[in-house]
Amino acid sequence: MRGAVLHAPGDVRVENRDDPKITNPTDAILRLSATCICGSDLWPYRGIEAVDGPSPMGHEYAGIVEEVGSEVVNIKPGQFVVGSFFASDNTCELCQAGYQSACINREPIGANGAQAESLRVPLADGTLVATPALPADDLIPSFLAASDVLGTGWFGAVAAEAGPHKTVAVVGDGAVGLLAVLAASRLGAERIIAMSRHQPRQRLATEFGATDIVTERGDAGVARIRELTGGLGAHSVIEAVGTQESMLQAIRSTRPGGHVGYVGVAHGVELPGTELFYSHVHLHGGPAPVRRFLPQLIDLIWTRQIDPGKVFDLSLPLEQAAEGYKAMDERRAIKTLLRAPTLP
Ligand SMILES: [Zn+2]
Repeated sequence: MRGAVLHAPGDVRVENRDDPKITNPTDAILRLSATCICGSDLWPYRGIEAVDGPSPMGHEYAGIVEEVGSEVVNIKPGQFVVGSFFASDNTCELCQAGYQSACINREPIGANGAQAESLRVPLADGTLVATPALPADDLIPSFLAASDVLGTGWFGAVAAEAGPHKTVAVVGDGAVGLLAVLAASRLGAERIIAMSRHQPRQRLATEFGATDIVTERGDAGVARIRELTGGLGAHSVIEAVGTQESMLQAIRSTRPGGHVGYVGVAHGVELPGTELFYSHVHLHGGPAPVRRFLPQLIDLIWTRQIDPGKVFDLSLPLEQAAEGYKAMDERRAIKTLLRAPTLP
C-alpha cells in the first residue's frame, strides 16, 4: 500500500509500505476512506519534536472494516467506523471513567501510520465506533474530523465546563480551536470569544457559533478578554495551541473559579506556581479521550446537526501528502484532507 513517511524535518514522502496484517486477535484492518494531516504532525515536521528515522505518519482515520481478528465480536467487516488516536479497551477502570486516552492498555495509532491506504487498529471492539450504515461521501470529512480534532475540541470545551450562562474564550484558531467553538456552541454557551487574526478562520469561527472575535494576543489579548467580561475574565477558556504563551494567555483570561481546558499538545510549557496559586483557576486537559464522545459526535454528524468537516479547506490525493504538510506549515491551509487513491 501507499503511505506517508517522515524522513527528516520537512521531508515527507509517500512510499510503498507493507500492507497491515492482523497481528493480535483483537485487531481490525481498515481500508481508509480518507485521512488527514494534524496540527500535531507539524511538531516533528518542523523539527521541534525529534524525528527518529523514517516514521510512518498520521493518527486520524475513518474507513471500512476489511478484516477482524478472531476475538473481535462487535466490529464487523463492511462497517464504516471511526476511531481515535489512542486504541483503548474501553473496559478498564480509566476507560469506564471516560479517560480512554489513558487506558491501561492504550496503544498509539500514530505508530501504525494512518496517512495510508489501510490501517491496523488494535483493540478494535473498544476503539472503533460504527456508523448506522455506510455514510454518504459528503459526510466522510466530518467523520474523519470526529477522529481527532472535533473530539479534542469537544473535550477542551467539556474540560473548561463550557455551557449555559457561560462566557467561553478559545485560544488558538487551528482546527481544534475552531471545533472547540462549535462544541461550546452545542453545549449551550451564552457567549463565545474566538481569538484569531486570520480572516478565513474568523469567518469559520463565526459560522461555528463564535459571538465575538479578538484579534489581539498575549497580554493585549488577555486585556481584551477582561474588557469584554467586566474585568473578570471568561468562565471557561479552551487552550488549543500548546505553547508557553498560549497557556499563560488562557490562564490569565480565566476568572477566579473558572476553568481552563487545555488540549494543545504542550511543548516547553512551564507554569509559574505563585501565579497559579493566586489565580484560583481549575486546569484540566491532556490528550483528549475522544472515544468517550464518539457515539454522540457520530450521531450529530449522521443527522447533519453539525458539519465539522468544514475545517478541511484543502483536499489532496494521498500521493500529494508533502504538499499538504507544506500548506499547513505555511498556514495556507487550516487542515488538509488526504483522499484515498480509490476515491475521486
Ligand atoms: Zn481501558
